[in-house]
Amino acid sequence: MIHAINPATEQRIASYDLHTPAQVGQKLANAAKAQKNWALKPVEERASLLLSLATVLRRNSAAYALLITREMGKPITEAEAEIEKSAVTCEFYARTAPVFLADTPVASNASDSRVVFDPLGVVLAIMPWNYPFWQFIRFAAPALAAGNGALLKHANNVPGCALALEQAFQEAGTPDGLVATLLIEASDVAAVLADERIAAVTLTGSTSVGKLVAAQAGQLMKKQVLELGGSDPFVVLADADIPAAAKAAVKARFSNTGQSCISSKRFIVDASVADQFVAAFCEAATTLKTGNPEDRDTTIGPMARANLRDDIHAQVEKSLQEGARLLLGGKPVAGLGYFYEPTVLDHVTPDMTAATEETFGPVAAIIRAADTEDAIRIANATEFGLGAALWTSDLSAAETLVRRIEAGAVFVNGMVASDARLPFGGIKQSGYGRELGEFGIREFTNIKTLWIG
Ligand code: NDP
Repeated sequence: MIHAINPATEQRIASYDLHTPAQVGQKLANAAKAQKNWALKPVEERASLLLSLATVLRRNSAAYALLITREMGKPITEAEAEIEKSAVTCEFYARTAPVFLADTPVASNASDSRVVFDPLGVVLAIMPWNYPFWQFIRFAAPALAAGNGALLKHANNVPGCALALEQAFQEAGTPDGLVATLLIEASDVAAVLADERIAAVTLTGSTSVGKLVAAQAGQLMKKQVLELGGSDPFVVLADADIPAAAKAAVKARFSNTGQSCISSKRFIVDASVADQFVAAFCEAATTLKTGNPEDRDTTIGPMARANLRDDIHAQVEKSLQEGARLLLGGKPVAGLGYFYEPTVLDHVTPDMTAATEETFGPVAAIIRAADTEDAIRIANATEFGLGAALWTSDLSAAETLVRRIEAGAVFVNGMVASDARLPFGGIKQSGYGRELGEFGIREFTNIKTLWIG
């Protein structure tokens, strides 16, 4: 049995029976059968399904957004934006999949040689709760257009979203069984992954689970895309527009109540402007409104689960013991719900817990850097490598600096965000492979050489 708990009230919303092994077997069989037919459809036809899916998402946006908010606690306006972004991404791939997957001629000694993109088969998608619709759609939209099927093992605190996603694909006219949700425990995932009808796996989640799944998939020689944790630096150089940087920094840290892999987590600020930045950052952070996530003016909802709040609080307490200075927040909000105060820690050093570990919640760590070189050194002094932001008014110096930052994306004078048009993914402990854009749609394809003499 899976229980969905509203993290704002701690009340149970609904309970769902787990799928039995027989049901899981049936879903695997249906998906494999449906995918074989789907792979034979022209890419234009597969891509056009995504237009229907975008329509379904928008038609049901209010209900889906409320479900997201009730199950994982994000502010309702952010949940609505998540559905809209999912719909936009479906439209993007509906337009571009036929272009990205078109045969690509390559001159050789053959009379005709080309690269063609064939699907891999049925992909197992292990997904997290933080963007329960977006995380799955951003994988599934391109994967389906490329001719694959998808079985979703969603995080078990968002079972309603998991079933609503399956239903949305059905409503959009997806062939029976091609996309299905498995309500199973994490401990049952290994058996599904090992099933010969699963060709590949994609996982968004923690680095520790990513390593387990990667090891198993490696043993099975199954393709993987891993989108894992991050400790993204937000670097503010001495010549940056400080008010603009501070405003963006607050959004970059506290959106989704800080529960995003690409939230900025370490604010690395040139010491000469640090006081100014910290003052502007704290001023903006105090305007955040914590409360009922179903209220439209709420900007900070509860954290998604009690244990996640416990974890972040332990990280804050440890960092304070290590010498960080508390400027704002620093504790759970009393009363019902897994709320945590928006927290700002100043004078964090690169060896403190708030800098070495991923902080998946509303906690900002300010690290003061001696100069630009020091800031880049600190930015790279992490095991992660997902996104990074760099704030400076010297764009020509930035050209060189961005090449030195170890991350899958560097945003100059902006906040790191995913965008259907641009590849998304990490290096180091943040994983490998790419989602979105042209690179993302190719991940679950067999890039096949066709050679005609
Ligand atoms: P997990 O990595 O545990 O969960 C992510 C997904 O993996 C869920 O569907 C989960 O299912 C599944 N899973 C868990 N254990 C296994 C396993 N042994 N084999 C296969 N699948 C498994 O993340 P949490 O929700 O526990 O969050 C913990 C931390 O992970 C966060 O604090 C954050 O640091 C990071 N995280 C990063 C995310 C990102 O966007 N990159 C998203 C979410 C978390 P189930 O729910 O049933 O356990």
